[in-house]
Amino acid sequence: MDNIVNTSTFVFEAWRGAVSDPGKQLIFAALLLLLAAYMGWRSSWPRRAVDAVESVTATLAIFLINILLTPAVWLLSEHFKALYALLGIPSVPGSVWEGLPLWLLSAIAIVTQDFANYWNHRAMHLKWLWPVHAIHHSDPVVNGLTTYRIHILEALVMWGSYTILLTWLGMPADAIGIGALFVTFHNVYVHINVDWGHGPLRLLIASPRFHRWHHADVPEAHGKNLANIFPFFDWMFGTYRVPGPCDAPVGAAGIPRNDVVKLTLWPLLEWARLATLWVEARRARIVGWLARGAGLGKSMPFDIKAD
Ligand SMILES: [Zn+2]
Ligand SMILES: [Zn+2]
Repeated sequence: MDNIVNTSTFVFEAWRGAVSDPGKQLIFAALLLLLAAYMGWRSSWPRRAVDAVESVTATLAIFLINILLTPAVWLLSEHFKALYALLGIPSVPGSVWEGLPLWLLSAIAIVTQDFANYWNHRAMHLKWLWPVHAIHHSDPVVNGLTTYRIHILEALVMWGSYTILLTWLGMPADAIGIGALFVTFHNVYVHINVDWGHGPLRLLIASPRFHRWHHADVPEAHGKNLANIFPFFDWMFGTYRVPGPCDAPVGAAGIPRNDVVKLTLWPLLEWARLATLWVEARRARIVGWLARGAGLGKSMPFDIKAD
């Protein structure tokens, strides 16, 4: 666990150093400009380039919000095992894993995490959780940075659930750390804008093509390709769909595209709207019952006469 804490502290410190040093800010701004120009050049000028700049800016702003949270989740995970003991929750003893090589333990951690991720992600595509996950799908220009466009509540649920599961399994801290790093790097990889499909390995390890289809905003693609790393989970649970190269539009209709404030508040706004609709539907049903009840009372004498 020290490795994770050290890595997150390093990333956080590097980030803080970069944003507080004017020289580094300039380099960072130049890199951003280059990236935006590259993405603009790949697309048709000028509308797509404007999209790209807006998309990158919004993603970085959301990343900044999340980077404050992620190290906190990792730091908290240190105390999870102690918490199980304290609450008397039975958990898998660490001795189960003794003697296994680190590469195997890391592989087990990655498969376990991706299994949890598949079901987390599947839940995130349901009506009431979609407003949280929609922020990830809101990116109109999917690229490596889209990885970091995740609402703070989603980051909390995702990292929280992995931490609870892996610490409950008594996995050694090193294996959890290596697993987390691999998952993060692979997640950037599947978002890059290339059409690589992985050929015969396509069910074994997720490709950019596989995940681009997940971001496609066409009805037949909705809720498909939910695994982060192992597409065979989708194949097993009936959500695998890669019909070929993905040239479908990406994004999510009806979601603010690059408005960071609106995107951050989006779950609250949507939940308020959904709750209002829910209450309205219940009220209409109750009024309907009452009206039918009153109607039935009046019709009875008529029915009796008719007999
Ligand atoms: Zn999704
Ligand atoms: Zn994605």
